[in-house]
Parts: sequence; structure tokens; C-alpha cells
Amino acid sequence: MLDTLAIRTQRTNASRIAERDATPLEFGKVFSDHMFLAEYRGGEWHNAQILPYGDLPVSPANSALHYGQAIFEGMKAYPTEGGGVALFRPLDNWARLNASAERMCMPAVPEELFMQGLKELVRLDANWLPQVSGGALYIRPFMFATDGMLGVRPSETYLFAIITCPVDVYYSKPLRVRFEQKYVRSAEGGAGFAKNAGNYGAAMYPTKLAQQEGYNQLIWTDASEHQYVEESGTMNIMFIIDGKIITPSLSTSILDGITRRSVLQLARDMGVAVEERRVSSREVIGALQAGTLQEAFGVGTAATIAPIAVIGHEGHDYEIPTAGPDALSKRIGAALGAIRNGQAPDPYGWVVPV
Ligand code: PMP
Repeated sequence: MLDTLAIRTQRTNASRIAERDATPLEFGKVFSDHMFLAEYRGGEWHNAQILPYGDLPVSPANSALHYGQAIFEGMKAYPTEGGGVALFRPLDNWARLNASAERMCMPAVPEELFMQGLKELVRLDANWLPQVSGGALYIRPFMFATDGMLGVRPSETYLFAIITCPVDVYYSKPLRVRFEQKYVRSAEGGAGFAKNAGNYGAAMYPTKLAQQEGYNQLIWTDASEHQYVEESGTMNIMFIIDGKIITPSLSTSILDGITRRSVLQLARDMGVAVEERRVSSREVIGALQAGTLQEAFGVGTAATIAPIAVIGHEGHDYEIPTAGPDALSKRIGAALGAIRNGQAPDPYGWVVPV
């Protein structure tokens, strides 16, 4: 599967590091100096290399552009106590990339290629980590078809790449979201569990409509009845009702988030009851009206935990009580952050130094 793992490195001789501090960082606009690339052809991965960040040549008949054979991951490297840099659960991202690849008829990326490419790239550009508390290096591994051929069939060649960008501490105002009753992000049997590009492109239009109505994002509901909660925007979603964490169980239409997994594990180990099951919009609104809904929040790599302040449903905006510093979501978020940044022991083996 892998012809050789020697990664050739060509360092830039004109670092752009000054761009990092020139203006407040806007997510995904400033990229670190280098990128990792590997090519798949003839059933094997070849030519693993690190190059100065730059444009890639593509054929106009590139089948990723026409048929969307393109997948990605999102993860971060964090500064740790003592001046090191560490990845958080990178093997989970690797496994999820390969689950996406399988769904999209794309080749698996070997663990060594993923991990070594990732570590060498992050080590080389570790100086791009912002020097502010809460800063991180966002990492975007991705793979796309490279055959220049218009036939609708899986490509025979692919490029796997990793790029990184410095990000400030993520702060968002508590979110205004609403249940989506018309459009769907994905359906049971579709590809919602995969991080293929098409899922994200198709979500933009319904999200834009919600934003025009003054919401930040949607709560996606199931494709057949629009009754059951799926995810919120590009985050998994959790509710705290009567002291229990309730979150939709995984299915082929929901992305198996690594933050979701981590939050649920920490909650269980803190003795909090967790229910992974179907949750209907009616149950959520009922709990809001009965005063038993204590918190609602999204979970994902970007924000870790993003509190929800307002849920819109059938033309009505319901306010959720503001979570104080002792709220469960804040305590879990703090525990997760402490493990990630090496300030607390890591009994789970989640933190991988580069
Ligand atoms: N759902 C969707 C649709 C997403 O794109 C993401 C971001 N990867 C998540 C949930 C959260 O996943 P994670 O915690 O692994 O970032």
C-alpha cells in the first residue's frame, strides 16, 4: 500500500510567519509555511513530501471537481505545558478519514503515512502556533480524486494532503439555532457519517436561509419525519435535561464527532448519566416549557463546546437559561481542555506529542 515512507522535505526560504500576527486571525485564511502531499497511483501511495504551501495543478477534467470524490478531516495541534505541541486523538481522525474514504470508493491512507506526515508537518511549522492563550494550529487533512477523466466511476489516482492554519482561541456568542423542517443534511443510508465535500456544499443553502432569519445555524432533523434531532450546523448536539446528558445516537446520517466521544466519556467518568438515543424536537421544546432543560450545546473541534441560547421552532424563539461557570458543560469543557493542554493527567491516551 505504501512504496516507502521517507518523506522528502523542501523547506521554504521565505517564511510568511509575519502574516500570523499582522491582523486578527480569521479562521482558515492564513496558512502555515508548508504542506504535506502524497500521491496514490497503481494501487500504492508514492512520493510523500513536504513542500512550501502553494497552489496545486489540477486537470479541468479532475473527477473530484465534477463528481465530488473529495473528503477531509478537521483537527488541532495544541501547545502543552512545558512548551511542547501535541495532537488530540489523531488516530480517531485517521480512522474516520478512512471510513469516509471507503464510503466514497477512495483508497485507505495507511496509518504510518497519516501519522508521520502529520507529525513532521506540525513539527516543521510548530512556530506558527499563535502565542496567545487558547491558540492552536488547525489541521486539515484531505484527499481528492485526480483522474482527468469524465467517466462517472471511481478515480484511479488520488492526492492526500495536509495543510495547517493558526487559529485564535475560539469564542462565539451563545448560538441562536432553529429546527430545520424542510431541508435535510443527510438521510439514513446516505453519507452523513462521512466527511465528504458534498455534505457541506449542500448544507450551505438551508444554512443561508436560517442566517437571513437571524439564526447562526440549524438543528438538522431526520430526513423522513423532521421530528428527530440530528446535529447542529457542523457540530454534534447535546441537551442536559434533569441533570442527564441526552444526545442523538449515531447513525449513517450523523458524523461520529471526536469531541462528542470525548465529552461523553468524561461525563460518564464524572458520574453523569448519559443517554444516546433519539431525541425529538417535541421533547426538547416540552422540556424547555417544563423548565427541565438546563443546557443545550454543540460539540466539535472548532469550539469544543458552544452554548446554545435560543432555539427557534415553528415561528417561536425559545430562550435557554444561560449556563453559569459551574454548569456541567463548563466543567466538562474545562476537564477536556486541561487534558488536551497537558495540565491534567491523560488516563485515556488521547494526547499525542509531535
Ligand atoms: N458534525 C459535523 C457535520 C461536522 O462537520 C463536525 C466537525 N468535524 C462535527 C459534527 C464535530 O466533529 P469533531 O468533534 O470530530 O470535530
